[in-house]
Amino acid sequence: ADDVALDPWGSSSVSDYRKLFEEFGIEEFDEVLEEVPNPHYLMRRGVIFGHRDYRPVARALQNDEPAAVLSGFMPTGDPHIGHKLVFDEIIWHQQQGADAYALIADLEANSARGMSWDEIDEHARDYLLSLLALGFDLEEGTLYRQSENRELQDLAFELGAEANFSELQAIYGFDGETDVSHMQSVVTQMADILYPQLEEPKPTVIPVGPDQDPHVRLARDLAERMRFFKVSEAYASFELDPAERDLVADFYERLDPAEFDDDTLRCVHVAEALEETPLSDLAVDADTLSSVLTKLNEAGMEPIRPRTRFFDRRATDEAFDALIDAIDGEKRVYENHVDAFEIDLAEAEELAREVEVDTGGYGFQPPSSIYHRFMTGLTGGKMSSSIPASHISLLDDPQDGYDKVKAATTGGRETAEEQREKGGKADECPVYELYAYLLSGDDDEFAKRVYDECVGGERLCGDCKEQAAQLMREFLEEHQEKRDEVEELLEDVDIELES
Ligand code: SF4
Repeated sequence: ADDVALDPWGSSSVSDYRKLFEEFGIEEFDEVLEEVPNPHYLMRRGVIFGHRDYRPVARALQNDEPAAVLSGFMPTGDPHIGHKLVFDEIIWHQQQGADAYALIADLEANSARGMSWDEIDEHARDYLLSLLALGFDLEEGTLYRQSENRELQDLAFELGAEANFSELQAIYGFDGETDVSHMQSVVTQMADILYPQLEEPKPTVIPVGPDQDPHVRLARDLAERMRFFKVSEAYASFELDPAERDLVADFYERLDPAEFDDDTLRCVHVAEALEETPLSDLAVDADTLSSVLTKLNEAGMEPIRPRTRFFDRRATDEAFDALIDAIDGEKRVYENHVDAFEIDLAEAEELAREVEVDTGGYGFQPPSSIYHRFMTGLTGGKMSSSIPASHISLLDDPQDGYDKVKAATTGGRETAEEQREKGGKADECPVYELYAYLLSGDDDEFAKRVYDECVGGERLCGDCKEQAAQLMREFLEEHQEKRDEVEELLEDVDIELES
């Protein structure tokens, strides 16, 4: 049971949360809880148990600063009470002032799960209805489908340029048999995660189950990479004026062939070539150029002044020139090494503002995440969409919901006597989970009372299940009524989604 391999498309359950903290660097949510304004009951009750870098989000909410929340749904079946956790998390963040995004991961459902487009359409509608019924504010929030979001696709393409196959192989175990659409769906998901920051960088939280952590880690890496301007095209417009040309010649003169290592040799070749050719016509890659600059510097010479272009296609040449001048006036970022040219976007943008140009960069902040526990199935084991008795669908007939709770496994003892004597095992009871995750709502006292009465032996499973079953029936009735009420709203969404 200590299988903690995190596979976003697998069915393994994460049985030992502690290992997640130790092996994957997920932090305990308790440690940030007090920085969260007005924490949701799922946070207070430890259902949300872990996070990655949630502090910036908590602080933004605290200070009424921009923040965002985004989560996606793969419409592979009916939305069930496990999905409700994520709906609640999105809606809560929205109510605390965050920009809220919910998306239908239709490309992923199609490529990773093999769902047909018709099946996806049908389920997508059900997810959105439940999300709206639970309180998602459509006017303030954003809903989209991956396949219909052009900006998202463009972003995915650019992110794809930052990731390579070996990386996806290491993270997801992709191999020679993996189809390309599946890989595309990964970069699309990366784009989803960064999408809320497209207009403006801001702390963004992705509420997910711990099995989705690999996606979050990759997105954080990519965000970091996209934070910087790129210099990979530096050679393309590298120009030397006559004085700089003399410097290179001087450098060349001073080299001692006895000390040549590979790096130096390459520099020599460049220097030789420079005697003849402007570097702009040379096929010199960024690494070589970097070596030349380093060697020149080591030789105690003034650095060559390369002209580079932004990786970002949206930056115009004029904007670039203006920015370079600004940066040059501020500090010689490229003194030693081409890599040193990767300056932080925030810094560049400040300079750009001074010279009134648009840098066109992204400047993503690494996205944050929070992790919730998986709900135990009503029949024990993991709650699974493919085992109807293990879960309660938000679309279940309320009476069926009642019956499923009545039939659920409990953490009760063999006999009533034993239960009175030793108390029930609430911590191992799927029915108690229902109380804690859903049926008690915001009422901590009620959840605590059920727990205390259970472990104290005052509560017996028959009555306890009866109460839970009734509450479940009420919840489903109410939820389904609300679904009917918000159906009209969805017509607007459909139009938006199809546009
Ligand atoms: Fe579960 Fe309730 Fe029985 Fe306790 S009394 S074990 S909470 S069903």
